[in-house]
Amino acid sequence: MQTSQTAINLNNQNLFKQASYINGEWVNAQSGKTFAVTNPANGAFLTQVADLGANDTQAAVEAAENALASWQDKTAKERALLLRRWNQLILDNQDDLAMLMTLEQGKPLAEAKGEVLYGASFIDWFADEARRIYGDTIPTFAKDRRVMTIKQAVGVVAAVTPWNFPIAMITRKVGPALAAGCTIVIKPSDETPLCALALAELAHQAGIPAGVINVVVGKSAADIGSVLTGHPSVRKLSFTGSTPVGKLLLSQCAQTVKRTSMELGGNAPFIVFDDADIDAAIEGAIASKYRNAGQTCVCANRMLIQDGIYDEFAAKLTARVAEMKTGDGLTAGVSIGPLINQAAVNKVEELVNAAVVQGAKVLTGGDKASQIGAQFYQPTVLSNVTEDMDIFHNEIFGPVAPLFRFKTEEEAVRMANNTPFGLASYFYSQNLSRIWRVAEALEYGMVGINEGIISSEVAPFGGVKESGSGREGSKYGIDEYVETKYLCMGGLS
Ligand code: NAP
Repeated sequence: MQTSQTAINLNNQNLFKQASYINGEWVNAQSGKTFAVTNPANGAFLTQVADLGANDTQAAVEAAENALASWQDKTAKERALLLRRWNQLILDNQDDLAMLMTLEQGKPLAEAKGEVLYGASFIDWFADEARRIYGDTIPTFAKDRRVMTIKQAVGVVAAVTPWNFPIAMITRKVGPALAAGCTIVIKPSDETPLCALALAELAHQAGIPAGVINVVVGKSAADIGSVLTGHPSVRKLSFTGSTPVGKLLLSQCAQTVKRTSMELGGNAPFIVFDDADIDAAIEGAIASKYRNAGQTCVCANRMLIQDGIYDEFAAKLTARVAEMKTGDGLTAGVSIGPLINQAAVNKVEELVNAAVVQGAKVLTGGDKASQIGAQFYQPTVLSNVTEDMDIFHNEIFGPVAPLFRFKTEEEAVRMANNTPFGLASYFYSQNLSRIWRVAEALEYGMVGINEGIISSEVAPFGGVKESGSGREGSKYGIDEYVETKYLCMGGLS
């Protein structure tokens, strides 16, 4: 690993922040501590950021609490206007945000630019939804009474977000929270604090009032998490991350009975039936499996390929994957960047090596790409992979496509559902009856049918089983941030 320093030249240098953002101000840790942010592509030092802890988090929650009443007092239109301004600033600063993302997270610059647009789309969408938070009037059960509901903001929200989408996983929560009238404390991953802080700067420039958005960056996730989950004023936790951490935070939230949304891990099946358009399936597989170097919760994790087309599919996929260029995300033409850290590389290496020992065959890749850098793994395709291998049951989070063979539709559905996870799933078929049968049989929150990329701000994103609860984006996303209050007016004559 190199330890040189990267010069960061942005068009708007003001977006390069080292302090956290609490109550409209840039603050250092009360402890005075800082930590280093590095570039996963080459280990280069990017900057030192303030390392906040429990006391700082307490201050952030108090700021959010103090800002709540006046934020709720605003009309939906006023909140929408501020969200729109923020959206526009994110779009205006797309290049700088993408640069920060590639530097701290590693994804290729073109993907990073795409994520900025995707992230902004949630602010845009929920700016509109702010004005559509309707209550009901309900036919009464007694002549002297009238029955209604109103929707009100849940209150202070805590958001804990991962490193794999350093912008979109934040905006997907902040957009609906602010639209509904909630204030928020965000704890981004310590791997990717720079994007979160740049977003806060743009929110500040947009005129979003002090305390409405707070960003707490720190190395001690458990300490920050304990305050966010334990503080009685926080009424809701929205978490995106791994299932084990999600379970821990759920148990912590139980003490004060907080509402929760959990966007957790996945183990997506990608099924290709004999009757599929194979070339379309190859395109879908490449997009679904290899973007972000395989580090997305909705990445195809298990390629289930029907017997009759298995060899053709394997050959075509291998040819495409072998052509992929691995390298620093800032280099033109690179489609596979580094993995986020050494532990991620080790995990992928262990899963692949164990599969190979058990009989899997490497069609391309199959090893680290050490000549490029310590945190790179070669884009890989494995055949002869079977259900008893660890790689079937674990989220790989790397650029590795294991191909499993099946004979019948029943077998494919059984294999696909043979996991405690239930986030995204995909299948390719041209048979209409099969399409409906399989779509209904898959125990997943999302199903891509002849489509490998399905995320959009207009559609509900979320999982079932141990992939979590709640939905983000779409008209349903706002429900996570409002309470339905029942009003019964009596004594009428
Ligand atoms: P992670 O280790 O669970 O971390 C997620 C966030 O939780 C980070 O901000 C992390 O902080 C924080 N955290 C860790 N331990 C904590 C604790 N004890 N208390 C409070 N916060 C704590 O997950 P990750 O490795 O960053 O992300 C990858 C996982 O996220 C994968 O499983 C992926 O499938 C899942 N994911 C799911 C979705 C979805 O929508 N369902 C979307 C994206 C990712 P630090 O990073 O600072 O330690």
